[in-house]
Amino acid sequence: MRYANYINGQWKQPTLGEYRENRSPHNGESLGEFPSSTVEDAREAIIASKSAFQSWKKLSFQQRAAYLQKAADILKANLQEVGRDLTQEEGKTLAEGIGETQRAISILEYFAGEARQPVGEVFPSGNPKTFLYTTRTPIGPVGLITPWNFPIAIPVWKMAPALVYGNTVVIKPADLTPKSVYHVVKAFDEAGIPPGVLNCVFGRGSVVGNELVEHPFIKAISFTGSNQVGNQIAQLAASKGKKVQMELGGKNPLIVLADADLEKAVEIAVSGAFRSTGQKCTATSRVIVEESVYETFRDRLVERTKTLKTGNPLQEDTFIGPAISQSQLDGVLAMIEAGKDEATLLCGGEVPAEEELKNGFYVQPTIFENVSPDARITREEIFGPVIALFKVKNYEEAVEMANDTEYGLSAAICTNNLSVAQKFVEDIEVGLVHVNNETAGSEPHVPFGGCKNSSTGSREQGKTAIDFYTQVKTVYLDQV
Ligand code: NAP
Ligand code: MG
Repeated sequence: MRYANYINGQWKQPTLGEYRENRSPHNGESLGEFPSSTVEDAREAIIASKSAFQSWKKLSFQQRAAYLQKAADILKANLQEVGRDLTQEEGKTLAEGIGETQRAISILEYFAGEARQPVGEVFPSGNPKTFLYTTRTPIGPVGLITPWNFPIAIPVWKMAPALVYGNTVVIKPADLTPKSVYHVVKAFDEAGIPPGVLNCVFGRGSVVGNELVEHPFIKAISFTGSNQVGNQIAQLAASKGKKVQMELGGKNPLIVLADADLEKAVEIAVSGAFRSTGQKCTATSRVIVEESVYETFRDRLVERTKTLKTGNPLQEDTFIGPAISQSQLDGVLAMIEAGKDEATLLCGGEVPAEEELKNGFYVQPTIFENVSPDARITREEIFGPVIALFKVKNYEEAVEMANDTEYGLSAAICTNNLSVAQKFVEDIEVGLVHVNNETAGSEPHVPFGGCKNSSTGSREQGKTAIDFYTQVKTVYLDQV
């Protein structure tokens, strides 16, 4: 099947008539053809988003929220199909594909509910005749650029607040996972969203994405993806005076202290590091263990890892599906090769030998120990199922090591000591802290984001999303 862009309320074929085959990372099977759009296609969508802005902004919050709620209901009715399509194009397991789709629905419902929340504050004025208050106004047409690893949740957690607060949207989904966003856009279309309010242009970031950043009609860019691309976009957008929000990479640590429940800590490490094939910005990639339990923890972790099934993500007993693409797999294998030179391989480290996986982008879950602090696998984001294990003397050394990174997205600690857990919450330099739980995973109604090189701009999701998608207007209303 051939899919089209969604521009000004119409499904529209790309101007040059060029398409890219969307393929399963499990076996290369075709999942349909999606537009390889041009700058002209992007401009048409941008112009539509500008034309629709004034009337969309004038609707009441409740009127806008009704479209979000309807789109949520439509997705809910198609949950199984959409989750399955997500799994087929992205490669995470079916439970994760359906779970992520459910999360997108929850986000839409949450922001539909936000439409009934206050948007400003009333202040006492120095002048007794002045009614002094703040309100919020939308920014205008916004450009959303999203990655392939959460192909439905991330687009929706940007789109939902953008729309409900009165902005119009042009989204450029990741070229590798267009179908998940197609389902969301189709749901909004069926919900009857007015033409031009939500536009979707499929294609390459360097073409369509870049035009969103360049074009003067687009007033803000929310981007999730790599640091390299994000930094480039942030500079360009800043030079054009645009508001930017960047969610970038991570190198997330899990600390396991001697008093932790080790059985649980092993599950937390395995789930945090290996689910979604380690392709989460919040995935655990460094596991830092107190020396008195190091050997016991390490042996159990390796034993457990060897039981995980790598394979077809649609099969129920699969724990680890394929990487998203050949180039992603090559990157992970290159990091593993670097690891073999600079550390000790404990398990994995290879492409699985099974015949039925040979057309997919598979790699075994991999664990290293004896890793030096300046090794590449210590410092660089891998975005694959790879753990670097570290042995430390005590909590102080653990937290110092955990903070010794350019990133600051998520971190976790396993301990039964409440005071140490509280100290960790203070000491750790991240935006998301987990105690006795994995580094990955976040609920749909609370702020999400990191510090250091992991994020810039205001937080996404929850009550904080309003800060990016609106601007404050302070009103002095005097009696005549
Ligand atoms: P990416 O290469 O940075 O791509 C992200 C998006 O930017 C894609 O839609 C891409 O288009 C587009 N893009 C590429 N070049 C562009 C340009 N010059 N101008 C405008 N847009 C451009 O990242 P990815 O490979 O998809 O995702 C993996 C990375 O994302 C990892 O580093 C991960 O840590 C990070 N990530 C962070 C979070 C978070 O919330 N912090 C969440 C998920 C992922 P194409 O599809 O054409 O490449
Ligand atoms: Mg990329």
